[in-house]
Amino acid sequence: MNKWLTGIAEARDPQMREALDSRLHKQQELFAAASTKRDSTIGNKLLVRGSLEYSNICANSCSFCGMTVRNRELNRYTVSESDARKAISLMARMGIKQLHIVSGEDRSQPIRPVVEMIQYAGELGIHTTVVLGERLEREYRELYDAGASRYILKIETSNPEVYYRSKGRKSLKDRIDHLMRLRDIGFKIGTGVIVGLPGTTLEDVVNDIKLIREIDPDMASVSVFSPNKQSDYRDYPPGDVDIALNLIALLRLVLRDDVLIPIGTSFAQRQAEGLLAGANVVSHHSTPEQHIDDFSAYRASSRLKTGYDRIVSLADSANMAVSEYI
Ligand code: SF4
Repeated sequence: MNKWLTGIAEARDPQMREALDSRLHKQQELFAAASTKRDSTIGNKLLVRGSLEYSNICANSCSFCGMTVRNRELNRYTVSESDARKAISLMARMGIKQLHIVSGEDRSQPIRPVVEMIQYAGELGIHTTVVLGERLEREYRELYDAGASRYILKIETSNPEVYYRSKGRKSLKDRIDHLMRLRDIGFKIGTGVIVGLPGTTLEDVVNDIKLIREIDPDMASVSVFSPNKQSDYRDYPPGDVDIALNLIALLRLVLRDDVLIPIGTSFAQRQAEGLLAGANVVSHHSTPEQHIDDFSAYRASSRLKTGYDRIVSLADSANMAVSEYI
């Protein structure tokens, strides 16, 4: 390994900064190192999870998100029990073994329906990841006891002031405490950041890597900021996709071998490049069709939907094999 890549693997600041800014030949070198590490450790498999965006009801006021409680134009929904069962049964028939339940954060919403979805999925041999935001400890335990094995809470940024400003005056420290509590309960934990979140700098992205490394998650994700027309940050410029792709490669290189790194639709037409940069998870959109466009953190217009054909073509373009979740 050359000196540059050794510096990255050891999470040294100058090399990480240089890697985040890399383009063309240098970027290809970075991607090659990241995908080689993935292929030689956990294999060149593209793991598929079925994403069920269960509800867009949210009590929070994150400035970057179209589902903020302040958005009165959004059509709010919660997937019905029968639609949720249909979506989960379809996943089972398609051979998808990981259900990914995502919702806005609202503690007044009961978690019982989610518990029932987890149990139903378990009966069909499907494991569940939960993304419900910060909840009470007894609710975390209830979800875990129902069979959920993974929980994702994104930190969004390592910069505490930007976090406070953009997450509706909440504390980054509390977020990290919740993650640690979830790990203590027994969950595999996931976290993630947004590249280009207004107020962040390249230095913050370097610090994102260091903080994520300290958290040592089982799953780590990167999103690209895109100004949602129904959010407070509607007039800010979008995040830099190259920096976000380089961040994926860096996370692959500095985190432990078996970390799962998804590539989401915020990368739009450059999603396949995320796989070349070392990502290994993709979501199949399993939300009932009538709700898909109402679940939108970063965009207010029609979303890019990932069906099975697109997943196969993404895998082919990165020379990966579509596989069950591990
Ligand atoms: S990011 Fe999550 S918690 Fe924040 S407003 Fe959007 S849905 Fe709610």
